[in-house]
Amino acid sequence: MDVVERTRALIREPSVSPDPGGAMSLCASWLGDLGFDVSEMSFASAEFPEVKNLYARLGTEGPNFCFAGHTDVVPEGDLAQWVHPPYDGVVDAGNVYGRGAADMKGAIAAFFAATERYLASPGGGHGSISLLLTGDEEGPAVNGTDKVLTWLEERGETLDMCLVGEPTSVQRLGDTAKIGRRGSMQGFVHARGIQGHAAYPERAHNPVPDLINVLHAFEHMVLDTGNAHFQPSNLEVLDLSVGNDRDNVIPGEARGRFNVRFNSDHTSAELIERFEQRARAIADNVTLSWRVSGESFLTPEGALSAAICDAVEEVTGAVPELSTTGGTSDARFIHRMCPVVEFGLVGQSMHKINEHVAVADLHHLVDIYERILRRALRPQR
Ligand SMILES: [Zn+2]
Repeated sequence: MDVVERTRALIREPSVSPDPGGAMSLCASWLGDLGFDVSEMSFASAEFPEVKNLYARLGTEGPNFCFAGHTDVVPEGDLAQWVHPPYDGVVDAGNVYGRGAADMKGAIAAFFAATERYLASPGGGHGSISLLLTGDEEGPAVNGTDKVLTWLEERGETLDMCLVGEPTSVQRLGDTAKIGRRGSMQGFVHARGIQGHAAYPERAHNPVPDLINVLHAFEHMVLDTGNAHFQPSNLEVLDLSVGNDRDNVIPGEARGRFNVRFNSDHTSAELIERFEQRARAIADNVTLSWRVSGESFLTPEGALSAAICDAVEEVTGAVPELSTTGGTSDARFIHRMCPVVEFGLVGQSMHKINEHVAVADLHHLVDIYERILRRALRPQR
């Protein structure tokens, strides 16, 4: 099966997270055909449902080059707006249509096609090829890659470099690879006051001004001015809630919520301490709580990014920009084990109605991935 047929086959197995559908099993059977040693695993937690994951390896020597990705997709949205049904994998005017075509079943299909071609042609290198696939990337990402990495660590299994096949290309295939991401965390502000009659404010304490003052101060903190690889860190207020519908009542409490996207100048712990100090200086009746989605990370330019840049330039004629913009991905977990770079298809249509990918791009992506494998696993002299 070529890359287009594999992409279509994966699209025809709907896998809206956390439901694995048949997509993960299909990958497992393809991996078995190629001779990989396949481990399928499911994880569950009290909060989130069970999800399927998979790790497969071909070879026992190092270095171990890993392709990582997710088989789960986001919901299709309004069916009536799709020009072709989202789970048919229709090819029309040089594009494959379907949910997951760009994000990221097309890239998974390219992992297989590139590996197959690499194995079939002479002059292969040393080392191992592995695949890490999760069904929980578009979901809460709690029972996915993070837990697979722990599973690998428990078995003494290491990855030496990893390529995540997210659709990082912006306008045309190969224009952008991601070598890092900003961290992300949610902050929750709770201001407690004393409820009372609006006509007798001296007998109450209104928490709303305290909430506003704290958030206003946070908005105006300059966290940094950016660095060589990252844009400045940024805070956005997302929600304010008091829930008071009375004309004559000063409310007893007020809440707010904000998100911080932070660069490699910070850890979440250091930023949290700064925000806590700032809040304490403004109001002593305000408490903060936090949920950290991911730390910022950066893969320094090295052998992996060089292999990707060279392969992309050979196939497309242009060197990719090494970027750190955009949202989080599973690379934030993999970074703890090995150098990781994200590189894949054009992401313009991802998560949208009529998601699609160019047939030509799929073929070029196979060329690029195969060249990356050759460079990464080239025998050392
Ligand atoms: Zn994705």
